[in-house]
Amino acid sequence: MSEVVLVDAHCHVSEYSVEEIRSFGNIRIAGVAMDLESSKATLELSRQSKNIDPFIGLHPWNLHKKNGELKGIKELAVHGGVAGLGEVGVDLRYARAPLKEQLKIFNELCELATERGYPLNVHALGAWEDVVKSCIRVGVKSLLLHWYTGPIELLKDIKDANYFISINPSVIIQQKHMKILQEADMDIILTESDGPYSYRGLNLSPKSLGNLLKTIASVKKLSVEEASEIVYANYLRFLRAPR
Ligand SMILES: [Zn+2]
Repeated sequence: MSEVVLVDAHCHVSEYSVEEIRSFGNIRIAGVAMDLESSKATLELSRQSKNIDPFIGLHPWNLHKKNGELKGIKELAVHGGVAGLGEVGVDLRYARAPLKEQLKIFNELCELATERGYPLNVHALGAWEDVVKSCIRVGVKSLLLHWYTGPIELLKDIKDANYFISINPSVIIQQKHMKILQEADMDIILTESDGPYSYRGLNLSPKSLGNLLKTIASVKKLSVEEASEIVYANYLRFLRAPR
């Protein structure tokens, strides 16, 4: 039996201490950031914890107050050690910046990702279709739609473009998300916690990922080892964005 490596493809690591991250055990984490400060903190943490792949970004919720930070993030992106860009994206429900401005900044980040061969760790709440279609159009090579609750029909376009979705532990209580897990091909699935975050009484953290993997294995009629092997291989493909 091969060793189970857990994957947390979307986690706000800068909100945890190094000790807490160590306590998560054998896990590979894509650490995402909300702004310039958390981008720098994520990079710093990745120097201390080898299991962290550091992503830098500016969350769509922060555009109205931290738009000026975009320049700093672009500068950081040309330095070594960055694994990808995120959390970036477009949010039609909760972001305060107008859609047009969100899309403009997101497109700039897509161009940067394409130029440098970075994968994108994306938040696209309510804007799933716009984001996927625009990324395909501008030639984004590697993309993760985190905590995907978008249309089932879009899963085919996501698979054809070699993009990924991530499944969150909320799948046990969020019916819409469970439907996505049932319908999505295993080849596009990654696991995530979005930790530290509380969702309808669920305490989301990388510690929830062992149980999440069991749920996925059971829905997909696989052993936990098979499910973990597929998710880990998917994660490595996600990280290796071809230029
Ligand atoms: Zn997040």
